[in-house]
Amino acid sequence: MRIFFSLLTISLFACKQSTTDVKENPIGIVIHGGAGTILKENMSPEMEIAYRESLAEAIRVGHTILEAGGTSQEAVEKTIHVMENSPLFNAGKGAVLTAEGYASLDASFMDGKTLDAGAVAGLKHIKHPISAAIAVMNQSPHVMLAGTGADRFALDIGLDSVPNSYFITERRKKALERVQSRTNETASFYDPIIKDSKFGTVGCVALDKNGNIASGTSTGGMTNKKWDRIGDAPIIGAGTYANNASCGVSATGWGEFFIRSVVAYDIAAMVEYKKMSVTEAAKKSLQKVADLGGDGGVIVLDNKGNVAMEFNTAGMYRAHMNNQGDLEVKIYAGE
Ligand code: ASP
Repeated sequence: MRIFFSLLTISLFACKQSTTDVKENPIGIVIHGGAGTILKENMSPEMEIAYRESLAEAIRVGHTILEAGGTSQEAVEKTIHVMENSPLFNAGKGAVLTAEGYASLDASFMDGKTLDAGAVAGLKHIKHPISAAIAVMNQSPHVMLAGTGADRFALDIGLDSVPNSYFITERRKKALERVQSRTNETASFYDPIIKDSKFGTVGCVALDKNGNIASGTSTGGMTNKKWDRIGDAPIIGAGTYANNASCGVSATGWGEFFIRSVVAYDIAAMVEYKKMSVTEAAKKSLQKVADLGGDGGVIVLDNKGNVAMEFNTAGMYRAHMNNQGDLEVKIYAGE
């Protein structure tokens, strides 16, 4: 009997040793819900609470997945689903409307371990564009699909589909009416009055226990967009980038300038090659955007869990949860 107990003690000790010996990477997750002229004086207290609660709900979903040992891909996808379901953000339900009055959705995803990526542009019927982007990566030989072909691919593989009216809300209809009443058709992109009609995109970067980073971005693009305009959100290297060797990035802002500045890759390159901190790199890249005349923001998370949430607009909906589960939710500059 005594021998049995000693053996039991030894094996329990050995078991404890081996579980504590396993070194797990610190997890982390960061999200944005768009940057823009978000001023406290223009926001009702109810609206502010709704945004803060929605950001907290979304990030908790991803953090719970990471804590349980789930992948960064799953965390990014499920977190973005929450924001795509919320009419508050310009992604999925509540997306901004094209000049013809329908929603046209763009999204992209990148896996920092394999450097695999997937993107969709101009979807009209897929409930979760971020899932379509991930499916392009995992279930097609391509990186980017656009227009009716992208919808067809997503339908063929069985992703949830909805009529376009599902995405349309009163708030976005009014925004479109306002923009169209103030601008003539061809000048609308450049009219400062509608400057903020392009913001509200959502994005997420996550780092899982295996040290893998993933990034995703999902958007309706720009109010009153025409000619099948596509912004930076579905462009790998501009709106989204991830590389375990450096960091993951998701951007929001005036897409034309983010494409020309190749913002997401620019930040990752500065972190990898120049050994800059994520904050330094994010600031530098946003300065390039500003120098060209654009504005917006980025979220960045590196392979150690360091985070940056930088923007050169009045505000950016954003939240971060670290390895310990500490949560920060912020909207305005200087918070
Ligand atoms: N970057 C997006 C675009 O230009 C808009 C946004 O960030 O809200 O399509």
